[in-house]
Amino acid sequence: MNFDILVIGGGHAGIEAAWIASSFKELNVGLVTFPDVPIGSTPCNPAVGGVGKGQVVRELDALGGLMGKLADESGIQYRILNESKGYAVQSTRVQVDKNLYAQAALNSVKSSRITLIYNEVLGVNKLEDGRFRLRLADSSDLHSHKLIITTGTFLNGKLHSGATVTRGGRHNSKSSNGMSEILSTVKTNSKRFKTGTPPRLDIETINFSVCEEQKSDHLAQNFHYANSHERKVAQVSCYLTRIMKSSLDIIRDNKDLSPMFNGQIQGIGPRYCPSIEDKAFRYLDRHEHHVFLEPEGLDCKTVYPNGISTSLPKEIQLAFLRKIPGLESAEIVIPGYAVEYDVVDTSRLDQSLMYGEIDGLYFAGQVNGTSGYEEAAAQGFVAGVNAALARLDRPQLIFSREDSYIGVLIEDLVTTTRDEPYRLFTARSENRLFLREDNAIIRMNKYNKIINLERSVDIFNSKFIAQYDLLCSLANEYRYKSKLGFPDYAGIFMGPQTLQELVCRGDIDPVEMLRLECRKFGVFFDESLIRCAAISLKYSGYIVRSNNELERLSRVSNKRIQWRELLKYSNISFECKQRIEQVQPETFHQLQKIEGIRPATLVFVAGTF
Ligand SMILES: Cc1cc2nc3c(=O)[nH]c(=O)nc-3n(C[C@H](O)[C@H](O)[C@H](O)COP(=O)(O)OP(=O)(O)OC[C@H]3O[C@@H](n4cnc5c(N)ncnc54)[C@H](O)[C@@H]3O)c2cc1C
Repeated sequence: MNFDILVIGGGHAGIEAAWIASSFKELNVGLVTFPDVPIGSTPCNPAVGGVGKGQVVRELDALGGLMGKLADESGIQYRILNESKGYAVQSTRVQVDKNLYAQAALNSVKSSRITLIYNEVLGVNKLEDGRFRLRLADSSDLHSHKLIITTGTFLNGKLHSGATVTRGGRHNSKSSNGMSEILSTVKTNSKRFKTGTPPRLDIETINFSVCEEQKSDHLAQNFHYANSHERKVAQVSCYLTRIMKSSLDIIRDNKDLSPMFNGQIQGIGPRYCPSIEDKAFRYLDRHEHHVFLEPEGLDCKTVYPNGISTSLPKEIQLAFLRKIPGLESAEIVIPGYAVEYDVVDTSRLDQSLMYGEIDGLYFAGQVNGTSGYEEAAAQGFVAGVNAALARLDRPQLIFSREDSYIGVLIEDLVTTTRDEPYRLFTARSENRLFLREDNAIIRMNKYNKIINLERSVDIFNSKFIAQYDLLCSLANEYRYKSKLGFPDYAGIFMGPQTLQELVCRGDIDPVEMLRLECRKFGVFFDESLIRCAAISLKYSGYIVRSNNELERLSRVSNKRIQWRELLKYSNISFECKQRIEQVQPETFHQLQKIEGIRPATLVFVAGTF
């Protein structure tokens, strides 16, 4: 029971950390987790990916991480988000079967070199020889050189359902109140955070015929590099309905029973996943909100009503649910609830996610004040790979925000103190046109070189990159001379142009064109490669321009700004305006330093000088 690396917690952060650490054959890696919480479980909505997050899943997959593979093994509905907005900002979102996802996670862990230990960690302390000693609930001890804590919402977790408050990390699981020896020396955030979940509904009691069906998107792609382009598994539909005034009035009439508003919950919730109570009171003039009915699995008899997370008492939940079209006879299987928990002060972590004052101690996931499976998984990877590299006395792997959403996430976390749960979205990046799903393999190449393992993903990536380089250089060099050479687009042919120039034209779909041209010349590349090359060629000019914008940003740092004027612009978000009003920055530099100000806002303000 002596390990190089131990991970506490088998959630999305923990499994990713243990998985990558165990890819280093020299290391002995253990994962300790509560026996009653499935590995890789999805306590909130059973979906992976989405705007900004799909990019992270592809980055992890290109790095040899787990999440994309697990999502593919359990995916039951695929959607391309932002499809109408063009290739650069599209993201994949996969609805997963929650039981299959957890099963796939367990199978992966069991098939790896990770030692899985089902137990509760009651205490952790650091020994004089530099190792960590973990005290378990069965009175046994574990020792480890590096320790990664990924305890999610469990640290001093408290569950709220109406007036009932119980200790717990989530439904039917106890909280984690131990580890006090080590945690007493770790600085936690001064605020507690909170998250919530909607009631789960009995599928047999829902009338889907009055809801709008949302079918799976057949053009969406698998996440995992080794899986074919097209989706093969059985698909389910989701359904759209609406919560309306009659339901919102019930919520508004019961304000004093809401733990969110009667003072019972002190924790701060995620701004971008507001509870239905939040929506009812924040938007008094809105009388309708979407509710997406998402099946939790192929054989699961429960439905997740996305958009109405709540901690009101069960009878109030039932009352407002039954006013929603399609849910008139709905029965609740598990009532909605909220959880409050402690989070670590991430400004004390370095870019490898190591806690600065305790050598060898790493934190990753929701315990760092983030929200979401993908954010947790990305941090798990960063902590896991760096703990492994440190144990092997090798240089650390630091992700840059210029070429990865993982880098954006980590830099945002470690350079600020959170005042609310952090969620990743594309506007957090200055480089959105470059940080796409399609080019994740290219972007992760330099990091894989540092990891330097000869895994199957590395072999796949090398081939992909070689073919990508070949395709791009052909597109740059191949010049069409006449209409005859270019029959498919004869009507728009303007004279000698390179394939790259044609791909950049507004009236041409770059992916379709490159695919057609490759076929014409008898060369067959994988669809994901064609997409990557075509979109990279198309946006190369924009990316140069965007880099120039960034350079301009750094030059205007000391310019004075009129913060009141900024509140008048419609393209500055409500959140940013709130923060500007709070801080009242006088210079552009001060604006840049405000937590939560989006890079897109900075670019816009710089453009007004
Ligand atoms: C009620 C609820 C609502 C949520 N709502 C949302 C939402 O709206 N949007 C969203 O994006 N995300 C939501 N989430 C968050 C999402 O579940 C997390 O972001 C994600 O699961 C975090 O992953 P993690 O690995 O950090 O932690 P978790 O998945 O929570 O995993 C923590 C692991 O640590 C283990 N553990 C804890 N203490 C100990 C100990 N002492 N000994 C051994 N093992 C221990 C547990 O067994 C568990 O496996 C919600 C979570 C909950 C519980």
